[in-house]
Amino acid sequence: MADLTFAKGGPVAQSELSKAPRDWGLPPNLIDYEAARRDFNWPSAQAELGGFTNMGEAVVDRHVLEGRGTKVALRFLSPDRPPRDLTFDQLMELSNRFANVLTHLGILKGERVFTLLGRVPELYLTALGTLKRRAVFCPLFSAFGPEPVRTRLGLGGARLLITTPALFRRKIAPIREQLPLLEFVLLTGWEEAPGARTLALESLMQSAAGDFQVGPTFPDDPALLHFTSGTTGTPKGALHIHQALVAHYATGKLALDLHPDDIYWCTADPGWVTGTSYGILAPLAHGVTSLVDEADFDARRWLDILSTQGVSVWYTAPTAIRMLMKAGTALVKTRTYPRLRFLASVGEPLNPEAVLWGKEAFGRPFHDNWWQTETGGIMVANYAAMDIRPGSMGKPLPGVEAAIVVETPDGHLSVAAAGQEGELALRPGWPSMFRAYWNEPKRYFNCFKDGWYLSGDLARRDSDGYFWFVARKDDVIKSSGHLVGPFEVESVLMEHPAVAEVGVIGKPDPVAFELVKAFVTLKDGYLPTETLGEDLLGYGRKRLGAAVAPKEIAFLDKLPRTRSGKILRRLLKARELGLPEGDTSTLEA
Ligand code: ATP
Ligand code: MG
Repeated sequence: MADLTFAKGGPVAQSELSKAPRDWGLPPNLIDYEAARRDFNWPSAQAELGGFTNMGEAVVDRHVLEGRGTKVALRFLSPDRPPRDLTFDQLMELSNRFANVLTHLGILKGERVFTLLGRVPELYLTALGTLKRRAVFCPLFSAFGPEPVRTRLGLGGARLLITTPALFRRKIAPIREQLPLLEFVLLTGWEEAPGARTLALESLMQSAAGDFQVGPTFPDDPALLHFTSGTTGTPKGALHIHQALVAHYATGKLALDLHPDDIYWCTADPGWVTGTSYGILAPLAHGVTSLVDEADFDARRWLDILSTQGVSVWYTAPTAIRMLMKAGTALVKTRTYPRLRFLASVGEPLNPEAVLWGKEAFGRPFHDNWWQTETGGIMVANYAAMDIRPGSMGKPLPGVEAAIVVETPDGHLSVAAAGQEGELALRPGWPSMFRAYWNEPKRYFNCFKDGWYLSGDLARRDSDGYFWFVARKDDVIKSSGHLVGPFEVESVLMEHPAVAEVGVIGKPDPVAFELVKAFVTLKDGYLPTETLGEDLLGYGRKRLGAAVAPKEIAFLDKLPRTRSGKILRRLLKARELGLPEGDTSTLEA
């Protein structure tokens, strides 16, 4: 595969993000990367969970038994009411009650319990109760319409669903008859619906006991079913096991640098894997206080939360960072963030511009990290004590073997040389590796080859061991004999003062095979004129060279995105070519 040309970072020299000990704040959990790689092993990480193998017990009951029961585990924020806190003691009792509810309803080990809920307390306590019951927890994003909900409930063979009365009426009642396996629907609050199988969660909880004896849980017992974001096609259901918690815990410690007194905020919804692995499990495993905001993104509100709640570790996504950038550095600076220590991002490539903007606006850079629904936890990261190379995803987690692999002429995989582009691959064996695509064994089998798990992402590794994202395999553009990754083009255009967001695609061309086309949204105060289009094309040519620069620019009011915030390049392309839009179940409304 031909080499790509890479944008060499943003306008600020890399050395400006070299970290001296004074930049660390608290001494980080991982100070010497090479030593950590040498010394780390999974059994020791597992031992730090106190011998608990059940996810629910390990993240809640363990803290109570070790004397931390009165600590606030979850703080729920809402624009409509004062914060509501749940301590570890309360979470233990409520999750026990829910585990008893499941037992009472005859839900068995391994059966699928779904939620269709916003970020409300019921989502968290039913997740934990389901894990204690050893059923499989599957959270659905509450803004899904009836069709994506039906597909996922059907695919996952849901036995029980917890939702709100309003969501039930709008999305479940019309499709209930099409889901013969769905035996019970529990409605939050006290309301019951006609028919014996739609019950009030509150009354069931009230009549259930607050003690629960968790049955023997084996490390490879199924625990979670997560659907992927559907960025490149139909979403897949990735199955994870109880042992995955060891990776959530280890990455919470090493990649997110969680310390016991942290106030932590993961902005992802548990309908996506980040919101469960890092919005529920990792912070609870560490016993930190974790914030949950019930509302959607709003720049001023988010900044208020970061400031007034004293957030110390913040885990968010590039789309939110770009929206905050659009709202402006001046707005960020109207508040102070005295406790904010560590900023991290996942989900899409993080443009160098955004990494550096973190430093400018919050006084701390964003730390990009890479993983997927399939990997269950962070695999490549920029660590707290490590120098950041803006635009790089960082280095593999201790305990994880990652490589860039290329296919040899005889069809086997070999590890690429430093600087060479290839597919990002992981050596199977980390605890949070998915164990199946639900009901799709062939698709699962096809992810593995020659002892590697193949991620479907193209990347390269530099000679110092930093990994650089290039493109999803499906998004890569072939133009005049060059392979162009949309990310490098997008990152450069993002540095133009008029640009808010960019999505880049390959548009079929009789001469070049594909030409690079950029779809751009503008910052406030800029108009989509022909002159600005010309200016952007010239800017791209100057920065990227003619072979890689976009040949066409189109202005849009907004880019199509998945509900988890990722730019849907396949949709930009389908619309450009007038082709069918494919699976749009995860398209943002
Ligand atoms: P689908 O598999 O259904 O197409 P998806 O891949 O977007 O959807 P997720 O598992 O939510 O579903 O996302 C994982 C993917 O997101 C990665 O494979 C990668 O393409 C992208 N990604 C995540 N983090 C990063 C990152 N830090 N840099 C670049 N890309 C990232
Ligand atoms: Mg994927």
